[in-house]
This record gives sequence, structure tokens and C-alpha cells, in this order.
Amino acid sequence: MNRPLPVEKMVDVIKRLPGVGPKMAERLSYHILKMSEHEIDKLLDSIQKARQIIKSCSCCYNLSEHDPCPICSDISRERHMLCVVETPQDLIAVSKVKEYRGLYFVLGGALSPLEAIGPDDIKVDKLIKRLKSDCISEVIIATDTDSKGEMTAVYLAELIKKLNIKVTRLGYGLPVGGDIEYADEVTISRAIAGRKEM
Ligand SMILES: [Zn+2]
Repeated sequence: MNRPLPVEKMVDVIKRLPGVGPKMAERLSYHILKMSEHEIDKLLDSIQKARQIIKSCSCCYNLSEHDPCPICSDISRERHMLCVVETPQDLIAVSKVKEYRGLYFVLGGALSPLEAIGPDDIKVDKLIKRLKSDCISEVIIATDTDSKGEMTAVYLAELIKKLNIKVTRLGYGLPVGGDIEYADEVTISRAIAGRKEM
């Protein structure tokens, strides 16, 4: 017996979420169907509210309730240091490291020729524009340590060095092929302390 068509449609939508396979999508769909009306309203309301309230910071492209975001508007931060990350989740992971008190820039992804993601698909131009207008003396590239992140780091380093700005890459300690988002605070802290000039 096949799943009823409305359930089929739910599974189809849910399995498009990252990290959710067809089996998990089916489990979640049947779980949602068992939820009370009130719980479903709460779930939908939280998604809608977040969608309405959260915006992209016009300075660093982090997601926040405010523009500029609390990090960009914090005047006590070291404004000559800029840490470049792929996603807002990576920014959250790095921001737990108390030793780093600089600013951030969220690229919105990484270069990936296989997926046809080029420099125009991530915020390379906006990063360069910001570096030209702000007084940044060092850029720490904290893209993931997988092949896409490494390729992006090398590409950015070439562009940034032309602006006579020091470029560093997170040092050893991070697992190769790993996602910054899932690295713990101590590991990121060591990687920042051991950063190498590119
Ligand atoms: Zn910001």
C-alpha cells in the first residue's frame, strides 16, 4: 500500500531539508501527523516569526534580529581583524571563542565547481568591497577544511593579498574535511592561536 497523497507531498517537501533522507522525512511526516493542533500551530508560528524577524546584517551578512547585527555594532571589538566563515552557524561556533574579539564576514557558502558554485554565487565581491573600505589589517579565513573550503580559502587569499592585507588560515587541530560549525570551542580556539599566514 502506498502512502496517502497528502503524506507523500509532505515527505517530498521535508526530504529537501539538508541532512534529511527519505526515511527520516517519512518518520518526521508521520510524527507531525500525530501532533496536536496546538503543537502544529506553535511549530508553524515559530517558523513564520523567525522568517519575518530574522534579517541578513548588511555589514557581515550574519543572520540577526537587528541590522547591523550585535557583533558589527559592538564598538568594543577589534575592528582591524576580520574572520571569514561560510555560514551563520560557523560564525556562532567561532564566536564562542573568547580570545577572538574581531569582526566577521559570512560568505554564504563555498566555491564548488562540481555544483557550479562560482565566486558570483557567494559574497566574494562584497567581501573585497568591504576590505577596500574598512581598515582591516588581518583576515582570518575560517572556511571548512573540506576540499570546497580549502579551494575557497586559496582563492580568497590570492585576492586579499593584492590589497596588501595579511591573510591567515586556521591552524592545525581541526579535523580535515570537517565543518567549522561542529568543531568545539577549544579546537577552534587552538586553531585560531595557531593560524598560519597564507
Ligand atoms: Zn553584522
